[in-house]
Amino acid sequence: MGRAIIYGMDMKDTTLNEHYQQIIGDTSPWEVSEVRLDIARLVNEVRLTVRPDAIWGCPQCHSRMHVKEWRTRRWRHLDSCQFKTILEAAVPIVECSEHGAQTVQVPWAEGSSRFTLFFESFALEVLKACPAMRAGELLDISWDEADGIKQRAVLRGLARRQVRDLEYVCVDEKAVGRGHDYLTVVTGLMDGKPQVLYAGDGRGEEGLNGFWKWLGPEACARIKAVSMDMSQAYQNSVCRYCPNAELIFDPFHLMKMLNRAVDEVRQREAVMGTKTERSTLKKTRQMWLWGEENLPERHAARFEELKDSTLKTARAWRIKELWRTVKQCLDVDDAHAFFHKWYVLAMQSKLEPVKKVARAFKAHLAGIVSIFKHGFCNALAEGVNSRIQLLMQKSCGYRNRQRLKTDILFHFGALNMDPMSAQ
Ligand SMILES: [Zn+2]
Repeated sequence: MGRAIIYGMDMKDTTLNEHYQQIIGDTSPWEVSEVRLDIARLVNEVRLTVRPDAIWGCPQCHSRMHVKEWRTRRWRHLDSCQFKTILEAAVPIVECSEHGAQTVQVPWAEGSSRFTLFFESFALEVLKACPAMRAGELLDISWDEADGIKQRAVLRGLARRQVRDLEYVCVDEKAVGRGHDYLTVVTGLMDGKPQVLYAGDGRGEEGLNGFWKWLGPEACARIKAVSMDMSQAYQNSVCRYCPNAELIFDPFHLMKMLNRAVDEVRQREAVMGTKTERSTLKKTRQMWLWGEENLPERHAARFEELKDSTLKTARAWRIKELWRTVKQCLDVDDAHAFFHKWYVLAMQSKLEPVKKVARAFKAHLAGIVSIFKHGFCNALAEGVNSRIQLLMQKSCGYRNRQRLKTDILFHFGALNMDPMSAQ
């Protein structure tokens, strides 16, 4: 009778182990040797033991290695129903006479991660779909653990990234927090879609150099054009690393410079102008900065009078609006011709802030008209930029720059990060 019960329990355990072995997949040379349920803590522990006939070979020279010591490690696996599932196994540290001691890599997890590949793969889907806080709750992992999973995922994705067809990139600076901390974000056109390729520290030359170094000299030589603002640091970096790249000064940044000039003229006039001018200009700041077609309906009637007035601000605004029509040019020659006419008008305006911008444009003219040669527009990257902005708002700012860099690549890098995928 007693014998029968023992036999029955043995059977049950073996079946349960086999059942878990099938669920977890190939763990060779380890195999499931015990499944323990801790009902009180809602934890299901699966112990894996090395088969006695296992032989360890050095990954580099394939010679046989001997075991130096064993270390017990634990990994969080996908939950079994409401039970948190933990794998536990002794992992050997082995020694090769030539290549030294090394920890054996288990087949179900990566590096020193405390999660199995299955868990990380699932966690990535959750982290992509939910805000960080909610994802952490759903997965029952800490903020740091979520960050570790994301960092590993980004590194994995970057290692798999193919950049052979990369010809056009956009470079942009991104302010982090309220201080003077910046990131350099590089977006590339891959298969016609903009994807963040890199996030570097600062907005100086170094911030961008890191990207070219990662890309390597051959890929750098294939870059046809780089779109950016007029920052000298970025220009220097491109000249140093990309022998065949033309510069494109991003229309969005050019517009920003002109808008700033219009605003400077307004500020000065609002202080120095006649009494009528001063009162006319009250509460008009934003109206001059909108493109004419974007002006909200409620301001239309008032602005109709303002824009044709003799105000200096109106004169600056008209030059700005005229500049916006540059996008209708057909080619580089057309753009050159347009620029020279515009430049004369800008210089005749006698408005110093406007003239200053016009001179800067003239000094950088090749990079302004080059957009008509490459037919490539930063507007694509702007979409990515506004999504980065949204990410920063949602997470209430990033105190940790490294975390922001990881998150940018994690969400907008279009990386293949799945630890379960073969590539
Ligand atoms: Zn070796």
